[in-house]
Amino acid sequence: MTDNVPTLYGIEISWPGYRNQPCHGTLVFCDQCEQTHLHGGGSDGSHKVAHCTNEKSRYRDTGYYVKVINWTEKEFRDAFKFVIKARTKKRALLKKGKKR
Ligand SMILES: [Zn+2]
Repeated sequence: MTDNVPTLYGIEISWPGYRNQPCHGTLVFCDQCEQTHLHGGGSDGSHKVAHCTNEKSRYRDTGYYVKVINWTEKEFRDAFKFVIKARTKKRALLKKGKKR
């Protein structure tokens, strides 16, 4: 992999699967799509193929590495909501500024 491959933050999550066997995945915080992406398996820091739905996402060509942080899913989702809210507000302000 090239050095341009970015690293995203993620957390490991698990949920009950077939016959209640725990399934493990890594939830990634994607700033390009402004949503989370779920990758199968735990994260050993290996390269992931981008699950981006945003066609302009800069991760689509490179994929990304995931740095797993030790946060709860709630902490992670709350932080994500906070970032999205701030970005939405910033965009609204910029749009308003352009209209002047
Ligand atoms: Zn994405």
